[in-house]
Amino acid sequence: MEGASSSLLDAEAVADLVLLDPLTEESLVQTLQERFRRRDIYTYIGNVVISVNPYQSLPIYTPEKVEEYRNCSFFAVNPHIYAIADDAYRSLRDRDRDQCILITGESGAGKTEASKLVMSYVAAVSSKGEEVNKVKEQLLQSNPVLEAFGNAKTVRNDNSSRFGKYMDIEFDFKGEPLGGVISNYLLEKSRIVRHVKGERNFHIFYQLLAGASPQLLQQLKLRQDCGHYGYLSREGSNLPGMDDAANFHAMQDAMRVIGFSPAEVTELLQVTAVVLKLGNVQLSSSFQASGMEACSITEPRELREICELIGLEPGALERALCSRTVKARDETVLTTLSVPQGYYGRDALAKNIYSRLFDWLVNRINASIQVKSDKQRKVMGVLDIYGFEIFQDNSFEQFIINYCNEKLQQIFILMTLKEEQEEYVREGIQWTPVEFFDNSIICNLIENVSCPPSAGILGFQLPQAGIHWGRFGVTPSTMAQSTTGILAMLDEECLRPGVVNEDTFLTKLNQLLATHKHYESKETQNARRVTDTSLPPRCFRIHHYAGKVTYNVSGFIEKNNDLLFRDLSQAMWAARHALLRSLFPEGDPQKVSLKLPPTAGSQFKSSVAMLMKNLYSKNPNYIRCIKPNDTKAAMVFTPELVLAQVRYLGLMENVRVRRAGYAFRQPYGPFLQRYKMLNARTWPRWHGGDRQGAEVLLAGLAFPAEELAFGRTKIFIRSPRTLFDLERRRQE
Ligand code: ATP
Ligand code: MG
Repeated sequence: MEGASSSLLDAEAVADLVLLDPLTEESLVQTLQERFRRRDIYTYIGNVVISVNPYQSLPIYTPEKVEEYRNCSFFAVNPHIYAIADDAYRSLRDRDRDQCILITGESGAGKTEASKLVMSYVAAVSSKGEEVNKVKEQLLQSNPVLEAFGNAKTVRNDNSSRFGKYMDIEFDFKGEPLGGVISNYLLEKSRIVRHVKGERNFHIFYQLLAGASPQLLQQLKLRQDCGHYGYLSREGSNLPGMDDAANFHAMQDAMRVIGFSPAEVTELLQVTAVVLKLGNVQLSSSFQASGMEACSITEPRELREICELIGLEPGALERALCSRTVKARDETVLTTLSVPQGYYGRDALAKNIYSRLFDWLVNRINASIQVKSDKQRKVMGVLDIYGFEIFQDNSFEQFIINYCNEKLQQIFILMTLKEEQEEYVREGIQWTPVEFFDNSIICNLIENVSCPPSAGILGFQLPQAGIHWGRFGVTPSTMAQSTTGILAMLDEECLRPGVVNEDTFLTKLNQLLATHKHYESKETQNARRVTDTSLPPRCFRIHHYAGKVTYNVSGFIEKNNDLLFRDLSQAMWAARHALLRSLFPEGDPQKVSLKLPPTAGSQFKSSVAMLMKNLYSKNPNYIRCIKPNDTKAAMVFTPELVLAQVRYLGLMENVRVRRAGYAFRQPYGPFLQRYKMLNARTWPRWHGGDRQGAEVLLAGLAFPAEELAFGRTKIFIRSPRTLFDLERRRQE
């Protein structure tokens, strides 16, 4: 941290936690609470912003506020998300450094709101002009479209993002936005077919039914009543505070701004309607002449309408839903499915259509916002991704999400240290090694491949980062890859011929990971004489950096395989509906490949590796969001809940790393200006260089030598106590 406004040094509620003294979990939470009480929802750790969700609209995002933060000195004004946005934007524009803004926190903590605040701030301060305004409008309008299709009401958040999002905003050399590229991660597609009580399916379905005109509903062969649809919940319509119809119109307007043609919108909504209607296709068992049990469609109307919408013979879809072609040697045999198998296939189809439609949507938006010219570009990436999850029941999804967070924590520590070290080198100050918890061991436990990978620690070869790993405590031994990781073992199980199920998978994990420090099973518990009996059957536990999580292996194989019966993809490809058909290229009988598609886990792993590589090439800025209470109540702060998040987010570690060397640093000029009255030789005016002035000033105050270091442009002060001492003397 660099300046020293008076609020910053208010010891009751320091604006920068680097100055906390003493530093304990309690004092950290207390400070956040005190600031929150004063409606200061933002607090720094160096240049990291902590944001505590106020659950009420505060008058701190006005155009006047934008002006206040525009071109301000980061630490001269009260902490604000605008300050970090401004700092990132200016450093991109003026110093030519690509930026990324990483927003993390648990569901409902305010990540998506924060990402929108950053985007709108950058839009407000970058220049205006017809062409630029159009680009900005398109970038901003991607939000309502993606939120309609990718967000849902959950128990934790009425507008919960059910996918991870990374958006690169691209600028020209003057800092004018040119366009952007969006990447999406792991949409929670299981929500299409199932959601728990009190939650909803994705917003779009309710928006469509509430907002479409009678003609549109008729065209899509839909009924307005939510309760009619098996995939929706009856209580889902008319949520307080959510106007589905208005949001539908806003979404349609947004699509227009982005450049969707009316025909594209119609096609998109048709496919959406098909997903909804698939949930109403009912199956029942019947007996064939041979006496074999088979399933058949009981209510043909829905099936017929679906087929009318997508241009397919109803017989073809019925066949694909109720039977399966099996190739045995040179023969193809049509086998009938049982009713549960039929429903399984139906739901898998609905989930697949929707998640592919979502990918298509992202690509379509990209096609509009992508920069067409090959001008030199500068980039600001904004990452809004699910935070660490510890639920009562944790499944494959939590495993994947927590893996991603483990990687983000790893990159966070490495980048923070790298930045610190770079500043020390720049300033010519001695760098001392920092002790910290290195979570590569947990990342490896999850992502290792069986043979030692040549890729570096983050899953890719590190660029010329100038980091000396050993000095950070990452010794070659922790990088040595010994055990196969859990994802690779899961893939092996998925590919193994014969009977595979989660039990064989779990047995294998338990055997091979028995000695891993961060892995826990019933067996390791026995061996280590752990008396904790809370590990339920079919579960393993991982000691993540943020805490212990118990995963139930049920569904791991199926979710990782993510297979769709080939008959169904072939039926979709056979449809005349151009958009739908394009979503199932593997359904083309000419292109039948015997190779299995990559598993969900391995796909996620490679997209995470790509993301890490991308982030690592940029200058990082962090926004760590905290949810202050569980009831979405305005201005209520529950310390226990906040403490848990302080741990998940690794904030203590963050403060420690930040002040490992020197807690405070400031350019000589402003420092001298603020404290010159403490020495008769510098008061009222120092005639000479700033650095020399600071040296003279401090020499007169007799601080221990190790407390201070004089860099090329800045003074470094080791402990907060010295700074507070300076401040106290100044006030006297
Ligand atoms: P998820 O992981 O579920 O997507 P999230 O972290 O993205 O959650 P948001 O959707 O951004 O959470 O925020 C949840 C709600 O909290 C918002 O809908 C809004 O009501 C409120 N909120 C968040 N940030 C702010 C803010 N800065 N000011 C006022 N209200 C806010
Ligand atoms: Mg969100």
